[in-house]
Amino acid sequence: MSIHQGRHALITGGGTGIGEAIALALAAQGAEITIAGRRIDALNATCAKSDKIHAVVMDVTDEASVVNATKAAIKVRGPVDIHVANAGIAETSAFAKTPLDFWRKIMTTNLDGAFLTCREVVPGMLKSGWGRIITISSIAGLRGLKYGAAYSASKHGVIGMTRVISEEYMGRGLTANAICPGYVRTPIVTRNAELISKRSNLSLAEAEATMSSENRHQKLVEVDEVAAAVLWICGPGSGSINGQTIEIAGGQV
Ligand code: NDP
Repeated sequence: MSIHQGRHALITGGGTGIGEAIALALAAQGAEITIAGRRIDALNATCAKSDKIHAVVMDVTDEASVVNATKAAIKVRGPVDIHVANAGIAETSAFAKTPLDFWRKIMTTNLDGAFLTCREVVPGMLKSGWGRIITISSIAGLRGLKYGAAYSASKHGVIGMTRVISEEYMGRGLTANAICPGYVRTPIVTRNAELISKRSNLSLAEAEATMSSENRHQKLVEVDEVAAAVLWICGPGSGSINGQTIEIAGGQV
């Protein structure tokens, strides 16, 4: 299928987990993909899976890095038509014991990062008259996640920013929507299962089960289910879906 032939998609955090699945799905539909992240090895491993996927090293917490890496990608593959602001970190801390530097690290990565990359791609979308911005928020962007004050606040912020983009550029061919997954089977969840297992004396399988039980259907969401939602938001007939939060959590959040 070549629905996106000639389109350029920029996916941050595209070397692993949800971002990698989205990169592969859009590449299969003909788009040229730039994946961005800090670890070139992880990015190269994804590039090896499709000759339509190309890597750029970018730290989304660093404005100059975002600006320069986005410019470099645009120079080679043209203006960004589809942007998935996916890079993020998920760490927990009891609210009253949360150090300010921990709070700032999460906010800078998840919220400032999404702001910077979206800001850099919007002008090109407005110029061409077609664009899709998809932010990867979380169900924690819609309700409070215990022990996740910084994470939840950052993901609420991502939704707020996405809604503003949709309001500000409505009717100009550009849409902005936020995807809000529950627990998805990715390295983030594997790392958290290891932490829970250590802290609570549970086996890894039991720790994973505590996370699946948070999803309404009691299963981990698979990365391809998130990628399918991205394909839908970018696909034919999607122009009127704008400013929405799309929950992928097995049931109502
Ligand atoms: P991963 O840890 O696999 O992906 C996170 C990606 O973000 C990595 O590729 C990482 O690459 C990149 N990243 C992190 N920090 C930076 C940075 N400073 N600059 C550039 N890239 C960065 O986990 P997921 O695939 O699960 O996470 C993807 C997104 O989905 C995140 O925003 C997460 O919050 C969200 N999400 C995940 C859920 C889950 O249950 N898995 C549920 C809901 C939302 P590198 O380290 O090389 O920079």
